[in-house]
Amino acid sequence: MSTVRTRFAPSPTGFIHLGNIRSALYPWAFARSTGGVFILRIEDTDLERSSQAAVDVIIEGMKWLGLDHDEGPFYQMQRMDRYKAVLAGMLAADLVYPCYMSVAELDALREKQMAAKEKPRYDGTWRPEPGKALPPVPEGVKPVLRFKNPQGGVVAWDDKVKGRIEIANDELDDLVIARPDGTPTYNFCVVVDDIDMAITHVIRGDDHVNNTPRQINIFRALGKEPPVYAHLPTVLNEQGEKMSKRNGAKPVTQYRDEGYLPDAMVNYLARLGWSHGDDEIFSRAQFLEWFNLDHLGRSAAQFDETKLRWVNAQHLKAMTDEALVPLVSQQLEKLGVRADARLPRICGLFKDRCDTTVALAQWARAFYADVTPHPEELAQHVTDAVRPVLATLVARLADCAWDKAAIAAAIKATLAAHGLKMPQLAMPVRVLVMGTAQTPSLDAVLELQDRQIVLARLQGA
Ligand code: GLU
Repeated sequence: MSTVRTRFAPSPTGFIHLGNIRSALYPWAFARSTGGVFILRIEDTDLERSSQAAVDVIIEGMKWLGLDHDEGPFYQMQRMDRYKAVLAGMLAADLVYPCYMSVAELDALREKQMAAKEKPRYDGTWRPEPGKALPPVPEGVKPVLRFKNPQGGVVAWDDKVKGRIEIANDELDDLVIARPDGTPTYNFCVVVDDIDMAITHVIRGDDHVNNTPRQINIFRALGKEPPVYAHLPTVLNEQGEKMSKRNGAKPVTQYRDEGYLPDAMVNYLARLGWSHGDDEIFSRAQFLEWFNLDHLGRSAAQFDETKLRWVNAQHLKAMTDEALVPLVSQQLEKLGVRADARLPRICGLFKDRCDTTVALAQWARAFYADVTPHPEELAQHVTDAVRPVLATLVARLADCAWDKAAIAAAIKATLAAHGLKMPQLAMPVRVLVMGTAQTPSLDAVLELQDRQIVLARLQGA
């Protein structure tokens, strides 16, 4: 079998969101899991809507998720000469023809067809046929080039997601493949690229399913067999609408900033339209081992942020403390905080109760910067009755060894001296030292905290 070659071909017309980047994940995974090649192609021919900022987010987002490409990025705008050369060849080979029908004439034709309840389509007025007299060429009008779509018969393919699809050629009119100024149109560029880049598998969103029969016909006219197609069902947002920037989809890179892990995102996105039995949590390596085109889902997948957070939490828990350090440090830097050698142990102590690295950094912050206890929690736990107890604890903590066992002993002795139970002391200490009453076991937390800071926070009560 020849080497698998897949591509991701985004249009940089808005900041890429999770629904779009899933269309990068599958072709990437298919290439990686088959020892193939993954190509990045930027479809930037819509000059008005394309932007460099959108290209940057695509490249940054893919880099963050580890969706590395082997070839490219190729930019369609830099390939115009190639498209024009192929067009010239097609014109010479009678595969395309000039059409001089004006916009007004096309509008009139459409209205007539609609009135007759017919599907609006170009009627082939300028298509040359043996023995057919073409209308006189109007003066000063630049023609479009139309592709001579085959007449009669069907164009069919076995879609890896949707199964067999057959379209009658008579449903397809002769597509405009070059504008009056000679610039090539979208479907044509895609085919030239897929041929030149020797793409074997086109894995893309099913909003392109209607383009596929036209593209297949252009492939064949150019003497090439089309690739395998897999059209992925849409990704819906939480409201059940097609995910899009217009209805609030976030750029992919925002998830990085919100503390999501690349492997967790890959895991979550992989499951959004593909399955491996009941497996919900898996590593990147497992995904690549399991991925194939046979288990792509047929129905639309719905984004669920709660599930994403859960998947992220599972990956976060499974990470080593050391591996979390650079990620949490980055988040701490954004809070204006510099971590130190305690950070791995802080990560270890708190990772089980966090679902993002942002949440983990918020805990870590209490070790490096002032805390502001919630006034209600202060009022509830730090009462006049507990102040003498806190004073005893301060005295004991001031000169004990600074490790978990010694701290636990100091707490125990304080409780015994005042005849209290653990929560009566632990709650106010947590609120004062960590800013909240919900923390892991007190001795473990205090041990990681600086003694002088603990004493100062308790004395400030
Ligand atoms: N540029 C197209 C898009 O962003 C993808 C075209 C393709 O994959 O063939 O929807």
